[in-house]
Amino acid sequence: MPKPVTDLIHHPYQPPAGFAAPQPGVHKASTVIFPNVAAIRSRDWRQKKGYTYGLHGTPTTFVLEERIAALEGGRHCILVPSGLAAIAHVNLALLSAGDEILLPDNVYGPSKALAEGELKNWGITHQLYDPMDPADLERRIGPKTKLVWIEAPGSVTMEFGPVAHFAHICRSRGVTVALDNTWGAGLAFNGFDFGQGDRSVPGSGADIVVHALTKYPSGGGDVLMGSIVTRDEALHQKMKLAHMRLGWGVAGNDAELLLRSLPSLDVRYRAHDRAARQLARWLQARAEIVQVLHPALEGSPGHAHWKAMCGADGLAAGLFSVVFDERHAPERVEAFCDALKLFKLGYSWGGPVSLAVPYDIPSMRSAALGTWKHKGVLVRFSVGLEDVEDLQADLAQALGALHGPG
Ligand SMILES: *Cc1c(COP(=O)(O)O)cnc(C)c1O
Repeated sequence: MPKPVTDLIHHPYQPPAGFAAPQPGVHKASTVIFPNVAAIRSRDWRQKKGYTYGLHGTPTTFVLEERIAALEGGRHCILVPSGLAAIAHVNLALLSAGDEILLPDNVYGPSKALAEGELKNWGITHQLYDPMDPADLERRIGPKTKLVWIEAPGSVTMEFGPVAHFAHICRSRGVTVALDNTWGAGLAFNGFDFGQGDRSVPGSGADIVVHALTKYPSGGGDVLMGSIVTRDEALHQKMKLAHMRLGWGVAGNDAELLLRSLPSLDVRYRAHDRAARQLARWLQARAEIVQVLHPALEGSPGHAHWKAMCGADGLAAGLFSVVFDERHAPERVEAFCDALKLFKLGYSWGGPVSLAVPYDIPSMRSAALGTWKHKGVLVRFSVGLEDVEDLQADLAQALGALHGPG
């Protein structure tokens, strides 16, 4: 008879199989136990037919991967520990020294930093392109161009570029296209089939769709995770091989939180959208603001592209920015931000708490491209799930602080 302390580890009791509940089980493992040596020899970490090691998946991460692939309209999904890791992974899996990538000038900031840092150190160059100009993108594609990143809209300045046109150009030049689909969350448009409803063209979108699950899929502001979704089997195998070599892992408990949040993704996204549009329209009428940047609003840059991709009654994320009139000095705009009570100051978006961040856009953009014309300070808002009248009152009282004691 084993001693009790051994039984704490190797107890013979096995719970009955067939347990069913609304949420899938949470499995956590580094080691996966094989029934015999033949199983060790025959199991293939590339296939989802068995388990080999925690890094290569558990029942919990496999379920999450399948749901994210379905959300994005793809076939295969790989999970990594953050949205930025997903971007890095695509670059690492596809690029070699001597290659070049193209990034829109309004790309998610750390993606630019990766290109200026590690990618450059490894002999991979990049160019920035005008996020609104297909001719500019086309001009920059050369023999070294291996990968073009697209993103619509930019998540701070909110221009919605002609991404369908961009993808078409890349396809005709034989260049792989990767989309950062965090804003659309798989709901506003399909990352693989651009166009909209009956008029979407199969395969006209990206080859690879990455998503910061940290944002709307998590919805709690408490999990970091990223996904890489593909349709093409060969492309997926490249991603999978790089994933095995690089050793990204996601925790079972984090996957569990995502699985808990996904069923409410659609209703949350619509609620964030509704509230954000109401606040954005209200701010449009305020004299302090020269421009409200929200792609679903008439007069916002790329509104027509948003309409073509998402539909006239289409969805948008609960994210928008405002540009203050330049007569309001940066210190006054900071006083406005500090005066906000329900809106908290912080990065990221997609959670229940409304957030605001002031940005110095000229320092983030290419002076040579000259794609940013405004002089005033920009503040980006992520609208949470609080009552929208309360949020509007918060903005109104903080605008008082803008004029402030001086
Ligand atoms: C937040 C974000 C990312 C990165 O996600 P993390 O999980 O924070 O690393 C990438 N792209 C966009 C558009 C984002 O908003």
